[in-house]
Amino acid sequence: MTTPIRSSSRFDPNWAHLGLLALTGALAWGAHQFSMSPFPTLVIGLVLTVGWLMLWERFAPYREAWRPSANDLQRDASFFGANAVADAAADLLLRAAALGAAMWWPVSGPVATLPLAAGVVLALVIAELGDYALHRLSHRGGWLWRVHVVHHRMEAVNTSNNFTTHPVNVLLRKLVRLLPLWLLGFSPEAILMALLFGQAQSFAAHANTRGRMGWLNYVIGTAELHRWHHSVRVEEALNFGSALPLWDQVFGTFHYPRDGAVRQVGVRGAYGVPAPAETWALLAHPFRG
Ligand SMILES: [Zn+2]
Repeated sequence: MTTPIRSSSRFDPNWAHLGLLALTGALAWGAHQFSMSPFPTLVIGLVLTVGWLMLWERFAPYREAWRPSANDLQRDASFFGANAVADAAADLLLRAAALGAAMWWPVSGPVATLPLAAGVVLALVIAELGDYALHRLSHRGGWLWRVHVVHHRMEAVNTSNNFTTHPVNVLLRKLVRLLPLWLLGFSPEAILMALLFGQAQSFAAHANTRGRMGWLNYVIGTAELHRWHHSVRVEEALNFGSALPLWDQVFGTFHYPRDGAVRQVGVRGAYGVPAPAETWALLAHPFRG
């Protein structure tokens, strides 16, 4: 019989995560002060986020066994490249949609005049609702699951393998997050800040870093919560929101046991999904019969 992995629900801060939020806040402040454009701000945010979290994972991992191998890093880098293309494609689609919408849609609604902080929070809450719906739907099966299972195939959860998400998934996520914000007329700065925070949160939720966030688990997405989402046990694989746990709490999919920790992550059984090391087969997976 194996010994259960125990952990307590007390507050023992995940300093990697809290430090990342402070760094992201400083970057957001700088972007606001110097009117930085979205692309460089998000790229700097991505480099900061991944560099910072991987440094913590190197010296203080939550699980030694979840450290990425050289092959894992290679796969994740390949997915990063493919996803950069998918991200640019989503951007083009959104720009075309926004241009089209400008002709018949009153894109400067009351949300455009909200104070920046309120605009950012509201934009994030709305973006997360779209993402929550897509994510939950993806877990119901069908073609969306064939796309999304690629992200669940790995048998570890860490910063690097957060990149291993199918490009179609990346494209869809960007559309469902951003399109409502543009149609509702949020200011570009509020959208940028919401994206910056969402990006940092997505990696923090996957990071192999230590800490128990206690009451903060009810306010922001954490690695503690998101590891459950990657559990091989479907009854534990809840917590569909990664940046915020709000919609999980509203729709009854919030999973935060007071004691215990996820035992095994990945997908159980033979779903016909290629192995985690098969980069090209994983990319082709949704398109195979
Ligand atoms: Zn999922």
